[in-house]
Amino acid sequence: DVLVVGSLNADLIVRTERFPRGGETVHGDDLIVGAGGKSANQAVAASRLGSRVAMIGAVGDDAHADIVLASLDAAAVDITRVERIEDAVTGTAVITVDAAGENTIVVSAGANGRLAPASLDRHLDAFDGVRVVCLCLEAPLEVVRDAARRGRDAGARILVNLSPFEAVTDLLEPGDVLLVNEHELELLVDGPVHDWTDVVSTLATLSIRTAVVTRGARGAVVLDADGDPTVVIVPAPSVEPVDTTGAGDAFTGALAARLAAGESLSDAATYAARVGAYATLRVGTQSSYPDLSTLEGWAPE
Ligand code: ADP
Repeated sequence: DVLVVGSLNADLIVRTERFPRGGETVHGDDLIVGAGGKSANQAVAASRLGSRVAMIGAVGDDAHADIVLASLDAAAVDITRVERIEDAVTGTAVITVDAAGENTIVVSAGANGRLAPASLDRHLDAFDGVRVVCLCLEAPLEVVRDAARRGRDAGARILVNLSPFEAVTDLLEPGDVLLVNEHELELLVDGPVHDWTDVVSTLATLSIRTAVVTRGARGAVVLDADGDPTVVIVPAPSVEPVDTTGAGDAFTGALAARLAAGESLSDAATYAARVGAYATLRVGTQSSYPDLSTLEGWAPE
């Protein structure tokens, strides 16, 4: 149903009272090594919710590769097309979290940067019969472009999460879904958003007609210039978040899963907002994502 092309990372997380200044050393808690990478997170979220999910990506030949692959495998994501590159290091995110829950993140692409259009050529079978191709910008841009093109050729819906942000909207074609958070949207339209109707016209000048903007506790806004109504406001369930890391990826994976199941964009976004909210209730990224039965049994306050 869903093909995810993109990044897999090991998340190296240390909690500390406060961030060090340049040249300073501070003490931190024990290191936590988790499975991450935006694309891998999105794949796990979609698969846990019952989608058949395959992933194309690359890892190094190191212990971190085992950790990220094991997590995908445990979530029943098809990892047969994730390549192990002998002389590469698995992608890494070095993360610090302070007492206020703020974080700083340095991402090192490692093997993700070695993904190339040729990697897609080796796995063209993955595009057969796929409904949704899920993409983000942690993979090299030429791979994202190529995967989008191949997905369209196969008749799939293309979902592009422009994160980490780059203003590369030219890779979107009519029918593709742009997915950004509010901060990324403001970078894209060059200023704060006061009027969502206005955003639709601004995005239209960038040739974007279909988009979903996530707004944290405020849920999401669906913009569909071909739809009626054009703007749908999707509320998020009210929760007391413990750790919002990876909520956006949970939302994206859930959206991909529901679009692949044939739901409309606004219905899929309503479902995804529930999944995103659920993902804030536990520490960690992939480990905080719900499966179908957990989600069905969950009634927020
Ligand atoms: P990102 O993590 O990419 O910055 P957001 O912060 O917009 O993305 O969160 C993505 C989704 O996760 C939201 O649309 C919402 O469904 C859910 N979410 C995030 N934070 C909260 C929160 N504090 N309360 C309820 N839902 C939340």
